[in-house]
Amino acid sequence: MISRIIDEKNVRLAKALIDKADNILIVSHMSPDGDAVGSALAASHVLTSLGKEVKILVPDNFLGQLKCLPGAKEIVIASKYPDFARRLFDRAGLVLCLDFNEPSRIGSLKLLLEECKAHKILVDHHLNPDLEADVIISHPEMAATAYLLFRLLCRLELFNEIDKNAAQCILAGMMTDTGNFSYNCSDPELYTVEAELIKKGADKEALCRELFGTVSENCMRLNAYAILKKMEVFPEFSAALITLSRDELNRFHYTKGDTEGLVNRPLSIPGVRYSAFMRQESDCIRVSMRSVGDFPVNLVCSEHFDGGGHLNAAGGDYHGTLEEAAEYFRNILKDNKEKYLS
Ligand code: MN
Repeated sequence: MISRIIDEKNVRLAKALIDKADNILIVSHMSPDGDAVGSALAASHVLTSLGKEVKILVPDNFLGQLKCLPGAKEIVIASKYPDFARRLFDRAGLVLCLDFNEPSRIGSLKLLLEECKAHKILVDHHLNPDLEADVIISHPEMAATAYLLFRLLCRLELFNEIDKNAAQCILAGMMTDTGNFSYNCSDPELYTVEAELIKKGADKEALCRELFGTVSENCMRLNAYAILKKMEVFPEFSAALITLSRDELNRFHYTKGDTEGLVNRPLSIPGVRYSAFMRQESDCIRVSMRSVGDFPVNLVCSEHFDGGGHLNAAGGDYHGTLEEAAEYFRNILKDNKEKYLS
């Protein structure tokens, strides 16, 4: 069995709110990833089986490979249907907020959520939750919201209501947020839960293919180009940098998600412990950083790129040209060798 980590009082409160709500709206974050979509769909499958009227609303579209998840076609994209999004908030008796820690993470839905009079439950694994809700179930030590949701469903005595479809969606969330169980994956109970989901009929092989083994030709060429032509390695700083300009992205018909995971690639090189990727957006340079070991990329991002995140995964922005951003980064390496690499 798995350990009980969710506070009993929160379980009771959540149960009471779910019991009395007929209309439940599930909301998740911008650029919904496999954990956002997976946990939302899993919750929807289970709550629907209890006879609830359930809708899922996300601010904008999600990656094509997630459309394979059962029920994904029913998800309402607020940017396409803004009026419908408003009506969903109006009629909801309960809003279940999944996989985000503050209203700014849901973009255009922020105001609707804040103005919504319905009860709210937050289930999330990001640091420092800052959201008005009746129940806040926040566990940053959990590898995925879908994993935390599984635990919550068990505590709500809904284990038996997790069917094959819900199991598939929970496993998709867990696989997404752990890079297919390759990071944030030291918690042995992850595998207990994974085994339970597979027993319920989750198809891990299909998820491996759909989530990790499928890539468009343009995306493959863009990533190959980025590594071949644009990767700088700084052995003296155990670091690497990849930059991509708007022109370069356009040349490969970049679509959202095409550079997902690119920042991790240099970490495969022996001796590289710290990697940065900069992508030129219309309004700024988007920076993401990853590290292995105790190199604190969250500090680099908060001190230099107006961002933040976790010890080994963080992001931020730079306002200026891509060349300036790259030069700024090289100087950070030179000036802070002792500070970060101790
Ligand atoms: Mn997540």
